[in-house]
Amino acid sequence: MFLETDIKYLKGVGDARAKMLGAELGVASFRDLLYYFPFRHIDRSRFYRIDELSGTELPALQIKGRFIHFNIEGEGARKRLVGVFSDGSRKMIEIVWFSKIQSLSNAYKPGVEYVVFGKPNFFRNAYSIVHPEVELYDPEKPPSGFRGVYSLTEVMRKRGFSTRMLQTLVGNLLENPRFQDIVDTLPQEVLERYSLMPLCDAFRQMHFPTSPQALQKATERFKFEELFYVEIHILRYSMERGSRIPGYLFPKIGDKFNGFYFNVLPFELTGAQKRVLREIRADMKTGRQMNRLLQGDVGSGKTMVAFMSLLMAVDNGCQGALMAPTEILATQHYETLKGWADPIGVRVALLTGSTRVAARREIHSGLESGDIDIIVGTHALIEDTVIFHRLGLAVIDEQHRFGVAQRARMWRKNRVAPHVLVMTATPIPRTLAMTVYGDLEVSVIDELPPGRKPVTTLLRYDTGRMEVDRLIFSQLRAGRQVYIVYPLIEENEKLDLKSLEEGYARTCETFPGYRVCFVHGKMKPAEKDHQMDLFVRGEARIMVATTVIEVGVNVPNASVMVIENAERFGLSQLHQLRGRVGRGAEQSYCILMGKAKSSADTKKRLSIMTETTDGFLISEADMKIRGPGDMEGTQQSGIAFNLKVADLSRDGQILFRAREAAKSVLIGNRPLLATGSEGVMSAGDATAALPLSTVSMEIVESEMRLRFARSVDWSQIS
Ligand code: ADP
Ligand code: MG
Repeated sequence: MFLETDIKYLKGVGDARAKMLGAELGVASFRDLLYYFPFRHIDRSRFYRIDELSGTELPALQIKGRFIHFNIEGEGARKRLVGVFSDGSRKMIEIVWFSKIQSLSNAYKPGVEYVVFGKPNFFRNAYSIVHPEVELYDPEKPPSGFRGVYSLTEVMRKRGFSTRMLQTLVGNLLENPRFQDIVDTLPQEVLERYSLMPLCDAFRQMHFPTSPQALQKATERFKFEELFYVEIHILRYSMERGSRIPGYLFPKIGDKFNGFYFNVLPFELTGAQKRVLREIRADMKTGRQMNRLLQGDVGSGKTMVAFMSLLMAVDNGCQGALMAPTEILATQHYETLKGWADPIGVRVALLTGSTRVAARREIHSGLESGDIDIIVGTHALIEDTVIFHRLGLAVIDEQHRFGVAQRARMWRKNRVAPHVLVMTATPIPRTLAMTVYGDLEVSVIDELPPGRKPVTTLLRYDTGRMEVDRLIFSQLRAGRQVYIVYPLIEENEKLDLKSLEEGYARTCETFPGYRVCFVHGKMKPAEKDHQMDLFVRGEARIMVATTVIEVGVNVPNASVMVIENAERFGLSQLHQLRGRVGRGAEQSYCILMGKAKSSADTKKRLSIMTETTDGFLISEADMKIRGPGDMEGTQQSGIAFNLKVADLSRDGQILFRAREAAKSVLIGNRPLLATGSEGVMSAGDATAALPLSTVSMEIVESEMRLRFARSVDWSQIS
């Protein structure tokens, strides 16, 4: 096929260059080159004037002028050819080459008009351009339109390979008579319904745009294309799963659930909690295995939802498991659940790494016989020695600490896969969730229990420390507890540990008479648990810690969260930390200690925290700032998509359309909608089926093979 042609056969390439393109850019075929998009474009009709350059971070740009003279300077490796270049404005710029000195000094002539193109460096108060592209200026054919700037490696530049050469190669490819025959990678029906630019036009526009608008349309098309196939991949997978993997059928709401609901439940459920329980209940009635992600901000009451879901399993003759990432959390959950379960005669047990041998043996046999209804624990739950009588539902708390591999392991404990509910307090923007957790249904608790006073968030600098100390004092005197958090001990371990230890010493000194406990991630687990326990039981009134406390501890009496060096935390992390307070009825405070000298960007970022307590807004802002790659949870997601063109933090709209298109295509090409795919299909949008021609179906299939090494097995779907 034309696109698969080895790049060495392209006019202007040959063996040596083909090797270099392959090794340096991963460009081995015609297809690779066409998809090697410029990272930006320059307006060829625009010449910069040397005296208008300002600042130290300039993009690559072009200047038109003449060399005044050339000098050879320096010795050895520093030996270089320096051309002084003038464009007639008040200033001059130095053009510098470190290689091919002799031949270049003969090639360029003073006095002749050239266009130089490159990225100016600012050094010792003057601008220079190293290894620019230089071409003769031809007044008959002045440069016009836009052209692409490609990222090249240093090795390529050293060998004299320039952006200009890459442009020429791409140009040669576009002129190849067979280029026009390339088959579009998107079905004609999709191109039409979504008014997308056809492939060949889009390639041309990406490399040599005729206008910014055309470039935009072309970019949009490639983003759409990329996301469309990702979505086909995800949706097809979840439809297959939906129709194939059977799960326990929980037809009834029984005595335990009702007994708890009417006699024990200590508060009225929020509307959001009720809605989520209905969603879970609906899943469990289908006979298919549930895989649901429950997102809810810190303090939104996920534990109650988990417990009541577990009761549905128990009422239907099954067992339930609740797995937490740390021993402390597991213990807290156990105590909470036991308090709710005892009155209704549901048996709960706790299994962690430190459960004694005798107790462990007893629990193992209780799980195998079915005497234990609900087991709470840590990773210890997924050890091979743990055998369930009939595990009907596994709830995993704080999902980002567990990988997909562990999730899968829990499934394999039964012949029938248990339903799985994954709970996370790290809100993931919807766009990201749709892509990354495309194989999970998503439920959201978007409402906090009533009566919560929003946490007052303050941004303070060192000058405000006295005021902060006074606030802490008054809260301590009122009987409350205080967290003081330092950045995770990391790159600069010594320095971080020092500031943490100094912070601890200072805290003990400033607040005499109050017990201070001390926790950091490099501590032995037993010591850490001991220190945490002091705080949970209220013996220690202040906790000085690194971010190890980020996940889950529930100490409703804590009312102050001080975060030192707040600029070193991501917004989502700050939000998590803030969620540790404000759990009781008292007014709580979160104090971000910033650096007075930090950049305007940093200050703006931190001030987002003072403006909103909405975890989703914060997480979206965080994603815009840090990029989705850094979002917690994305690494372990299992479906690690390496998006090349699309950017999830910006391209939400395109993603929605691509997903809708993918659905339409999948629906439109199954004679019957498999029973059980409604879950995937009922995401709220009435999707119109889009039947494809045979040719188009072949296109989709071959793209799927190419992109995911998998084909669409239409027969499996229908
Ligand atoms: P998270 O979602 O962060 O895990 P929790 O489940 O720990 O939140 O709930 C936080 C607190 O709110 C707990 O003390 C819990 O008992 C309480 N809570 C949960 N749901 C409600 C409700 N509907 N009304 C009042 N309090 C509630
Ligand atoms: Mg929780």
